[in-house]
Amino acid sequence: MAISTDVVIIGGGVMGCSLAYYLAKLGIKSTVLERFKLASGASGATAGVIAPLWHINRSSEALFALGMRSLDRFPTLANELIEAGVDPGFRQNGVLKIAFSPEEVDELKHNLAWQGELGIGVSWQTIDDVIGREPQVNPEVWGGVFSPNEGHIEGQRYVEALAHAASRLGVQVHEGVEVTGLELQGHNVMGVRTNTQVYHSRHTVLAAGPWSGIAQKWLPEKLPVRPVKGQRILLRKPGFLPRCAVRTFEAYTVPWADGTVLVAATREEGVFDEAPTAEGIKHLLSEAIASFPTLGDAVFMGARAGVRPATPDDAPIMGPLPGWEGLSVITGHDAVGIMLSPGSGELMANYIDTGNARPLEPFSIGRFPTSG
Ligand SMILES: Cc1cc2nc3c(=O)[nH]c(=O)nc-3n(C[C@H](O)[C@H](O)[C@H](O)COP(=O)(O)OP(=O)(O)OC[C@H]3O[C@@H](n4cnc5c(N)ncnc54)[C@H](O)[C@@H]3O)c2cc1C
Repeated sequence: MAISTDVVIIGGGVMGCSLAYYLAKLGIKSTVLERFKLASGASGATAGVIAPLWHINRSSEALFALGMRSLDRFPTLANELIEAGVDPGFRQNGVLKIAFSPEEVDELKHNLAWQGELGIGVSWQTIDDVIGREPQVNPEVWGGVFSPNEGHIEGQRYVEALAHAASRLGVQVHEGVEVTGLELQGHNVMGVRTNTQVYHSRHTVLAAGPWSGIAQKWLPEKLPVRPVKGQRILLRKPGFLPRCAVRTFEAYTVPWADGTVLVAATREEGVFDEAPTAEGIKHLLSEAIASFPTLGDAVFMGARAGVRPATPDDAPIMGPLPGWEGLSVITGHDAVGIMLSPGSGELMANYIDTGNARPLEPFSIGRFPTSG
């Protein structure tokens, strides 16, 4: 027997669950279909750093605005999720970017020129300042930049917290359900077929991360989404935890609330598998020790890999798929999906609620000439 729901969301990563949560806040009930477990893709393997100032090209106005909008939303969102019952591990305790050469100092100062004008307290850090903030940092550091409003969140817990809060508002989350095709009536998408049953909906959203690009066998539109693998490791050193997320030009070192130190990430273009490798782990261990030599005798707790969904212009694809009624997409967030998730989920939910796609135009599939 078919299940009926207002909105079917394909994929239980951060995009699917953020969208479900913001839809639920608007009173729209959705069903999230995840073929494995929530956050089993990149969203659970993520470093979880929320640092739009460092990762979003400010010349791309709409994308930068989405980053700042999301940064603005995180504290309230995290409180809402805690109140609903699951703490996503959000910490707004800043991001420290450090330099180990004169060239890196120049680049940091070049960026500081515009970041300082944003009026959100981004400041230059002398060597003493950096060591004062992070006493265990490699003493060969040349200086850094501290951005106090940025922070980090624990990806797996964040997705679970979104799903939990959404469930309390009436959202259904079905794990172990793989979408295998669309239910079509002409150009109207009426829902999806899965390995278990049919789901009927007035709106269907593809939020399948890098798999959105290979869902073409049952999707009417070609999506220019390519895979970029990333790996991360977890370490533990009793008595040591960085005070905030620390970024060199090569890697992040991120403190988790339970005393674990996360180190990320590799970037492997075109690689579509989720297995941590010896080379990836070796690289991240070496970067960890280069940032914090004290981690040399840390305990190795494990590694995880995920696949980022990347697009040709480094911006996400969000909004309706032209020519198909009741079908839209939210994917392509590459290395910035966690930090863009509140704004992305909110914008997509508003579109599904009102039918007004104008705010999503900068992210529409129509910007790619090959689509259609
Ligand atoms: C190592 C690493 C470090 C990163 N660090 C950061 C960071 O510090 N900050 C940041 O903002 N971003 C970071 N990212 C990127 C971020 O994690 C991603 O952009 C984001 O998680 C993508 O979320 P998503 O929901 O689009 O995709 P996914 O998390 O991949 O979710 C898609 C889900 O869809 C499911 N699915 C696929 N096909 C089907 C189907 N047919 N039926 C049902 N379900 C299906 C999959 O199982 C998957 O769970 C990092 C990524 C990696 C790998």
